Amino acid sequence: MDREILVTRSSMPDLDEYVNEIRTLWDTHRLTNMGPKHREFQDKLRDYLEVENIELFTNGHMAIELTLQALNLQGEVITTPFTFASTTHAIIRNCLRPVFCDIDPFNYTLDVEQLESLVTDKTCAILPVHVYGNVCNIEEIERIAKKHELKVIYDACHAFGETYNNRGIGQYGDVSCFSFHATKVFNSIEGGAATYRDKHIGEILYDLKNFGIHGKEEVSAVGANAKMNEFCAAMGLCNLRHIDEEIAKRKKVADRYREHLEGVDGLQLNVTQSGVKSNYAYYPVVFEEKEFGATREEVFDRLAEEGILARKYFYPLTNAFSAFHGEFDVTKTPVALHISKRVLTLPLYSDLALEDVDRICELILECGTR
Ligand SMILES: *Cc1c(COP(=O)(O)O)cnc(C)c1O
Repeated sequence: MDREILVTRSSMPDLDEYVNEIRTLWDTHRLTNMGPKHREFQDKLRDYLEVENIELFTNGHMAIELTLQALNLQGEVITTPFTFASTTHAIIRNCLRPVFCDIDPFNYTLDVEQLESLVTDKTCAILPVHVYGNVCNIEEIERIAKKHELKVIYDACHAFGETYNNRGIGQYGDVSCFSFHATKVFNSIEGGAATYRDKHIGEILYDLKNFGIHGKEEVSAVGANAKMNEFCAAMGLCNLRHIDEEIAKRKKVADRYREHLEGVDGLQLNVTQSGVKSNYAYYPVVFEEKEFGATREEVFDRLAEEGILARKYFYPLTNAFSAFHGEFDVTKTPVALHISKRVLTLPLYSDLALEDVDRICELILECGTR
């Protein structure tokens, strides 16, 4: 192939649409600090995500990090190692201790069979991830959280626009955090949001994203700077107009992958979950060498030779990061370890041509029969 296919490709509106959206900024000179675009984007997202309360941020990471600060947590947070660095870093940067729970072997979210056994008198919260847009076992997590009086903060960075039992996914837990990074299903170039149940949390989050400044002459918290600027909000407003169409196109790509790869020995495709309206964020495939006939590494390399850059999301596990100097025992999360060594997320974006999907699958299947 003479052109590269990356794992994702950022959705962008027509240039004219964006230029039109930012035109007023040249009249107002209002570039940031919760201006009109910020407010409009926040209102539109509240509707789209079907939530009552929402606060915007510069990115998804700051939404998570400042949420943990806003909840004033201390002690241990039960979480998953099968995620992006951000989830674990947000915990540690708040001087909290992550306690890693293993994952379900099929949907890759927190293993609720193990979860409760990790609760101690130091546990203050659960931070599960709707990984790949797969919805966690919300009922069990809520039950355990209620019983032990724990906060639940969902990392919903992969779950933009999803619903569970006909309710916006951001309605679950105390807080849910979303990412609008360029590489995600929906982007505002960079951006993020926290949706939350308790209005009081929103007031704290608002202050924390602006240095803790509370009113003209009062600084009441040690905040950060995590305000979404007007250009990002404008991009978000444009992309939001097209999001349903984008997700519908993603579904076509995902369906095509399934047509080719379903039922092949040694390939585990992602689950379809009942009650979930999916956003088709990722296309993870787990390669079991013995049954399939090739390793994940072999498939990865073969695709790379053809300019197709799949990604090993999520490898390594966050509890194996060199940043933590062996502090966490990865053998305590054996399922996560097994999956992380075998999973590959295949290219998936709205404009990926179905012929390219055919070719990618052909290359993959060849690896298995060589
Ligand atoms: C992308 C991502 C984040 C962080 O979002 P940013 O907007 O890039 O800061 C957090 N958690 C997960 C699971 C993600 O994929």
